[in-house]
Amino acid sequence: MASNQYDYDLLIIGAGPGGYVAAIRAAQLGLKTACAESRETLGGVCLNVGCIPSKALLHGSELFEEANNGTLAKFGVKTGNVEIDVATMQAEKAKVVSELTGGIAFLFKKNKVDWLKGFATFRDAHTVEVAGTAHTARNIVIATGSSVTPLPGVEVDNEKGVIVDSTGALSLPAVPKTMVVIGGGVIGLELGSVWRRLGAKVTVVEFLDQLLPGMDGDVRKEAAKIFAKQGLELKLSTKVTGASVKGKKATLALEPAAGGAAETLTADCVLVSIGRRPNTEGLGLDKIGLELNARGQIETDHSFRTKVDGVWAVGDVIPGPMLAHKAEDEGIAVAENIAGQIGIVNHAVIPSVVYTWPEIAGVGLTEEAAREKGEIKIGKFPMLANSRAKTNREPDGFVKVIADAATDRVLGVWAIASVAGTMIAQAAQAMEFGATSEDIAYTCHAHPTHSEAIKEAAMAVRGKPIHM
Ligand code: FAD
Ligand code: NAD
Repeated sequence: MASNQYDYDLLIIGAGPGGYVAAIRAAQLGLKTACAESRETLGGVCLNVGCIPSKALLHGSELFEEANNGTLAKFGVKTGNVEIDVATMQAEKAKVVSELTGGIAFLFKKNKVDWLKGFATFRDAHTVEVAGTAHTARNIVIATGSSVTPLPGVEVDNEKGVIVDSTGALSLPAVPKTMVVIGGGVIGLELGSVWRRLGAKVTVVEFLDQLLPGMDGDVRKEAAKIFAKQGLELKLSTKVTGASVKGKKATLALEPAAGGAAETLTADCVLVSIGRRPNTEGLGLDKIGLELNARGQIETDHSFRTKVDGVWAVGDVIPGPMLAHKAEDEGIAVAENIAGQIGIVNHAVIPSVVYTWPEIAGVGLTEEAAREKGEIKIGKFPMLANSRAKTNREPDGFVKVIADAATDRVLGVWAIASVAGTMIAQAAQAMEFGATSEDIAYTCHAHPTHSEAIKEAAMAVRGKPIHM
């Protein structure tokens, strides 16, 4: 239904989870829609070099570790000599990436979304140039995502494969003997776990005194214990001040974060994973008078409108956690707003999951943040006491439910458990419906499931759990 004045009702820049989802929803709502993408395939970081390939390697390396460390043998599954064929694992990863990115191309065709191939630049607030051609649209959504934050003095060269970023670490052709991960956040722990399971000796260098900034304090402490037990060497409160590469080895200069005696660390592979930054370079934002905030992000209102009329933004390029599901929900909401409906994202209830073994997940406030806001009550339940986790021999972790002391409303739920990522969906839904801990405690949970630990932790908020 594009008016004659413009080529499109909506043009989206970037086909990651924010952009491609916005495009499909807009088309479903009857808008004539185009999506510009500079990558060869659709799906953005998430499908090409993020969520999906990392999960393929996490899954493959988990299978290897289960066969190798005696977990299978414990249940009588005899595997004999277990070997890892990295090329086959990488090929399987490439196959699923191709299937899923191809799936988005199919959905674009099915929904009649035009894929404009190339890098998009604004000419004005209603005109974007892609590969030398100008396209006009009544509305434009910026969904350009993010890229790796560089670390001065530590130059990434994914081709060489000695100092790599997440994209390089997802494509190593062989298991390095030694690996140093700079940054004990989500990427460092997920990809560090992959290569540790496959045989690398992995050291994680983290600037702060704990891993996983932003997560609940108890979770951060317990996670560090579990990772250390698994064989990750953790160097907390330590900063990297420089790196040099000689042949196939890198030498890093390290210092205590607070200053002090320097040391060096040599490794076959170094992964730089100290965060990501929004992609705005080369977009021509100056042409439309759109300024960035101090963190280089595009600010929007709750409808995802920027300060420039007709220009909207979603995903990693705007403030908030850099997560695929957050970008997707914003993509749906922005399309609905542009189509004249009311699209809302509840940013207080965005779950986050670290796909290590066990998984680490949370939604809502941490205990520390909740305490700052007022009186709270806490219920905790160990996975060791959950019958399914015990049966499966997955003893590590716990669930913690944080509730308002006066109203009992659930403010946050945190979990370390083999399937915490799946379990947390229940907590997110309960919080979305404004549940109290009593609501969760009196909801019937199937037995035996890991999710019963959420019910027991909720019971622990106001009384006592049964199995502890
Ligand atoms: P992106 O996915 O970054 O997509 C933006 C797209 O825009 C890109 O394809 C880019 O090529 C294109 N683009 C940029 N500028 C232009 C331009 N000017 N013209 C045309 N095209 C342009 N999140 C999770 O929730 N779960 C996970 O398990 C998870 N795992 C991850 C693992 C790794 C290794 C990494 C790096 C990230 C992971 N993330 C995960 C984060 C997730 O990938 C991002 O939050 C998500 O992809 C953001 O979506 P987006 O649409 O905002 O941007
Ligand atoms: P991150 O912000 O999760 O972690 C970066 C870590 O590096 C932090 O702990 C920080 O303190 C540390 N750090 C920063 N500078 C340092 C330095 N100079 N020396 C040592 N440590 C330093 O960032 P990431 O792991 O790079 O991930 C980037 C983004 O991608 C995250 O925002 C995350 O949300 C997203 N992601 C999500 C998933 C998931 O949902 N499972 C997986 C991967 C990535």
